[in-house]
Amino acid sequence: MANNAPGKAHRKGIGLRKLMVMFPSDDQARMWLESQIWPNGPYCPHCGSFNVQCGIKHKTMTHRCRDCPKRPQFSLKTGTIMQASNLGYQTWTIAIYLLTTNLKGVAAMKLHRDLEISYTSAWHLAHRLRAAFGNRETSMFRGPAETDEAYFGGKRKNMSKAKRKDFEGRGPVGKAPVVGVKDRATGKIAACHVRKRMPKPYKSLCERLWSRARRSTPMRQRHIKV
Ligand SMILES: [Zn+2]
Repeated sequence: MANNAPGKAHRKGIGLRKLMVMFPSDDQARMWLESQIWPNGPYCPHCGSFNVQCGIKHKTMTHRCRDCPKRPQFSLKTGTIMQASNLGYQTWTIAIYLLTTNLKGVAAMKLHRDLEISYTSAWHLAHRLRAAFGNRETSMFRGPAETDEAYFGGKRKNMSKAKRKDFEGRGPVGKAPVVGVKDRATGKIAACHVRKRMPKPYKSLCERLWSRARRSTPMRQRHIKV
């Protein structure tokens, strides 16, 4: 069983110590991101031209395109998931590390504590990263596949009295249902949030989910109306 576990010790990757060496400061993180986003030098995110002016004295917009008619200023963040974000490059790189190396994902509350940013910023950051990962093509379902549902939501005892009143009943009442499909051959998973609890018939939802998966449609971040 251990041999099939996803966290094999021999797998190569970046450890926490290496991460700290790679991104000791915002500048180092920016240089690493530049090497990834602009491997051939900075280019305009609007027209793709490499004819750009660098080192502009502006707090955030450090480059300007010479070929666009309005000569717009831009930065490394423009046109990426970091666009219009006030968070530093170091924060982004560490967040990417945390979200890509944790098998079960990372809660926004944990990012808020670990990165010392506001909960709202952490939530938006996680949301953007998950959306970016979810946009990747998922041409992976060949079958046979397994499907199951789960319910996500906080414990009722942690809610305020006013909120608790809305969730009278037992079990998954008030929780968000999520249905997932797992391909036995590849071990990959696609999951989505469904609007209603225990759709009727459940089988037909699974069939719809399965047929959508077979069409290789990216399903994450998508809601299915049942
Ligand atoms: Zn341009």
